Amino acid sequence: MEQGHIDALTEIVGDAARVITEPQVVQRLSRDFYWYSPVLRKLLHDKTGEVVLKPLNVSEIQAILGYCYAHDLPVTLRGAGTGNYGQAIPLHGGVVLDVERMDRIDAIQPDGVAVCEPGLRLGVLENEARQAGWELRCYPSTIIKATVGGFLAGGSGGVGSVSHGGLRDFGTVRALEIVTMEDEPRVVRREGEAVHDILHAWGTNGVITRIWLALTPAVEWSQCSVAFDSFAAACDFSERIATSDSWTKRLVTTFEWPIPSFFAPIKECVREGKALIFFMIASAQIGRLEAEARDAGGIVTYSGAYQGLRTIPLLSDYTWNHTTLWALKTDPAYTYLQTGFNPATVRGQFLQLKQRFGDEILFHIEFMKKSSGQVVPGAIPIVRYVSEERLNEMIDFCREIGVSVANPHVNNVEGGGRYRPDNVQLLAKQRYDPKGLLNPGKMITFKPEGAELESVPAR
Ligand SMILES: Cc1cc2nc3c(=O)[nH]c(=O)nc-3n(C[C@H](O)[C@H](O)[C@H](O)COP(=O)(O)OP(=O)(O)OC[C@H]3O[C@@H](n4cnc5c(N)ncnc54)[C@H](O)[C@@H]3O)c2cc1C
Repeated sequence: MEQGHIDALTEIVGDAARVITEPQVVQRLSRDFYWYSPVLRKLLHDKTGEVVLKPLNVSEIQAILGYCYAHDLPVTLRGAGTGNYGQAIPLHGGVVLDVERMDRIDAIQPDGVAVCEPGLRLGVLENEARQAGWELRCYPSTIIKATVGGFLAGGSGGVGSVSHGGLRDFGTVRALEIVTMEDEPRVVRREGEAVHDILHAWGTNGVITRIWLALTPAVEWSQCSVAFDSFAAACDFSERIATSDSWTKRLVTTFEWPIPSFFAPIKECVREGKALIFFMIASAQIGRLEAEARDAGGIVTYSGAYQGLRTIPLLSDYTWNHTTLWALKTDPAYTYLQTGFNPATVRGQFLQLKQRFGDEILFHIEFMKKSSGQVVPGAIPIVRYVSEERLNEMIDFCREIGVSVANPHVNNVEGGGRYRPDNVQLLAKQRYDPKGLLNPGKMITFKPEGAELESVPAR
């Protein structure tokens, strides 16, 4: 990037400490957890932005985007950089807009809606919300680091989803404001259904600057782990708890052996050769859960009160996509998939996958509620990476046998499996980023300066 642009952007920001040009730091702040995927590792290892800006408020963002629009400079948003698909990695250089300094909670409203800025850490919001008698409906296992804006633009669900669905379900995101990438960047408010234009669009169609996030009343939680001789028995018991409305739960995670052997810091929870379930369950129900687990043939290997995110051990640190991290720490040849199973056919589908791929696939199940209200087994299986061809063969086979796959080894919104079939994210990009300067290359169906603009319905 020409020095003239850097000087002009520094003047706009008005504080050289919030303009980073040192190549090593810029490179670090241009990265996320893309290296989970051997395919993306190859594709993205040399990509970087050219300057990092850390705005403090909406007017600064408007001024930065206005300048970048006028000079055709790409802008890629960054929260905490914990995304897994290289979402936050600039493919075409330019500005990395790091919103970590915009981290205010404006209000936790009496109706249980938090109003906040995008750089706020989810863990801070959870702690503040609990003080006020509320808690997050769902959060990624990266809660301590991840930001609210990054979760909306790049995440999908996590702890809590077994009861409250994913981030995009049940009106959890009530409203948001974005700044557009135009000649004169505007602040646009999206609410209700219209938030879906922006959710999971990887910062390609607007900069999220304010969020209205629905919470749920806080619960006193306990955690426990239960070991079963077989994965089938663990699946049966976890499904029973996950799908019954009579249990108040935040987490039901089931692991096939040897996945529990990867959890080095919590050996006390693990039993050699056995499948394992981790629960977060209302404290009032923990005694009954343990009794039912024993009746079903399980061994309760750990039980304790949950005292917030600093609880040790914090079982959620081993769930969702943290499970893959523990596998990678054990053996860098592992990677993962994101799959959805049909509850009626899941056992047969597990069997078919095992028959075809053996120990190349290890099952890690996360139960989650769909927007229909049904609780289904989602899975983030650990996969032993042999080659890209073999990985694609596994993905194709999953789809053949009716297992849905959100492919985490692609670097565009459309390919990742959470792109809306009604194209609302693309239509929003045409409206709010007509030159295609926001995170360019990540929404591959977008064509800059298209005639299609005229056919985009006004909103
Ligand atoms: C160990 C591990 C476990 C994980 N577990 C989960 C999980 O349980 N559930 C889950 O959903 N994800 C999970 N993830 C992925 C990731 O942690 C979450 O999606 C997280 O919410 C991303 O937040 P972030 O602040 O790090 O976002 P970033 O990675 O910084 O950004 C994510 C995307 O959002 C865009 N973006 C960031 N801020 C804005 C903004 N203000 N406006 C517009 N676009 C913006 C970025 O450009 C990027 O495309 C996991 C990742 C790891 C490494």
